[in-house]
Amino acid sequence: MKTVLLVISFFSFAFSIDVTSGGKLSKNQQGIDIKHYDIRLKVDSKRKMISGYTDIKMKIIDEIRFIELDLLKSYFISKIKVDGVATPFKHRENKIFIKAQDIKLNSTIVITVEYKGKPPVAENPPWSGGFTWSKSKDGYPWVGVSCQANGSYLWYPSKEHPSDEPQGADIHITVTKPLSVASNGLLKKVTDHKNKWHTWHWSTDYNINPYNINFTVGSFDVVERIIPSLGKPLKTQFYVLNENIAGSEKLLDQAEVFIGFFTRNFGQYPWINEKLGIVNTPYWGMEHQTIIAYGNEYKDNEKGYDFLLLHEMAHEWWGNYLSVSDWSDFWIHEGFAVYSEALFIEEKYGFDEYNSFFKKNLLKKIPQYKPIVLDRNATMKQVAGLDPYYKGAFVLHMLRYLIGDEDFFKVIKDFLHSKKMAHDNQVSTSDFIDIVHNTTGENIDWFFEVYLYEKKYPILIKNISHGSNHTFVELSWKNKGFAMPVEVIYKSNTGFTQKKLVVTDEPIMIAIPQYNQIKIDPDKRILLTLDKKE
Ligand SMILES: [Zn+2]
Repeated sequence: MKTVLLVISFFSFAFSIDVTSGGKLSKNQQGIDIKHYDIRLKVDSKRKMISGYTDIKMKIIDEIRFIELDLLKSYFISKIKVDGVATPFKHRENKIFIKAQDIKLNSTIVITVEYKGKPPVAENPPWSGGFTWSKSKDGYPWVGVSCQANGSYLWYPSKEHPSDEPQGADIHITVTKPLSVASNGLLKKVTDHKNKWHTWHWSTDYNINPYNINFTVGSFDVVERIIPSLGKPLKTQFYVLNENIAGSEKLLDQAEVFIGFFTRNFGQYPWINEKLGIVNTPYWGMEHQTIIAYGNEYKDNEKGYDFLLLHEMAHEWWGNYLSVSDWSDFWIHEGFAVYSEALFIEEKYGFDEYNSFFKKNLLKKIPQYKPIVLDRNATMKQVAGLDPYYKGAFVLHMLRYLIGDEDFFKVIKDFLHSKKMAHDNQVSTSDFIDIVHNTTGENIDWFFEVYLYEKKYPILIKNISHGSNHTFVELSWKNKGFAMPVEVIYKSNTGFTQKKLVVTDEPIMIAIPQYNQIKIDPDKRILLTLDKKE
């Protein structure tokens, strides 16, 4: 029962705080381009408070009336500066407004926001966001932050939107000694303040989604090694509680296997100049770039691998490197990450196991609750649910069945590397469809229309009639223009016959020996609803 419950709650967000990531950008926020966040916070785990300031470097790219930033209303802002000069501001409805009349178009400025307060406590991390104030067995504070669903403004002032990734971030977290802080990128320095506090300074030079900027505090040991990654050394660090150190080397062994698999299939680890980071968190997991949150307690699945680590590592390519600018395309993060696991199974255990991953595991988990691509300007709250994960992966599975391995794997590679690494590694569903069309030379909009933009599966109509010598099976798709080929298997005089039929919205008929049964889509390669008349 426990596993079943876990599966059901897996990735379904709860929204106890009434803010959510993404949505429609205001005109003010469309007019700024964030370049860099420098977050400096003291984390007081005794009082469950944070205090400090964030420098936000931005370029003004359009005429705006206000600089508009996102930060929870519950924080107290003591001061805001524009390029070092204190300025009036308003803080209402989780938004900060600073008058922009003296700020020139095309200028680059630094906004400093000084603030403090009690961050929201995460009720069900990582799905519902906030801080987790926990303790390790040795009695030290163990603090984690989750904000994918609710957005970065749960803990730092930002332009909270997936479309605006800064080109790097600095994170300075001050905690009491001897606690450590694990965060994104590389550890630059630990400054001892000659009192009970010390400051950990982490820095990344890669662009990063606001929700991926993260830190975890704990009394950690660091288990590290160098993993070879396509001929380059990949610095790998696991910030782990002493009580969990026993399984740490085994986890890194798995990370090493996964790096081999991912780099063989998807190319170099995207953050090779920084690190592969894993941090032991008081909640399940999240794909924070270069510092994956890991709380799966070394539980391997029935196949013998840690699927959580595999899933979060897949996101370094699918979601962190290649990311979407609108949450309506969230399936590109999650569907591809789940599909990566299927490819891992195929490489390790063969094609039959790959197929059965879809047939036995994923098929029954697809809720058909919403289409997997929503209207533009979607929020994380709107895309929450399991369809982008499981149906998203299934769409890739079916696309492979439809266009064949050669084109399919070319599409995957071209999509991942379609954009330059620098700033623009953001894609949309229509970019993906364009690559499919260019690669195959065929228009299969009928496939995408039904599987990406409709909630329900297509309907396959099956009519059976009996003649004097044969049984006649008539098949057609109810959906106009839909043309997914369908495999069938039936018993004939010479044994079993398996065929892939071209089925369209016009009925086709095949004759089988009288009163024999025909099985439609025996391997369950297609998401469909059967409408039979016999
Ligand atoms: Zn995921």
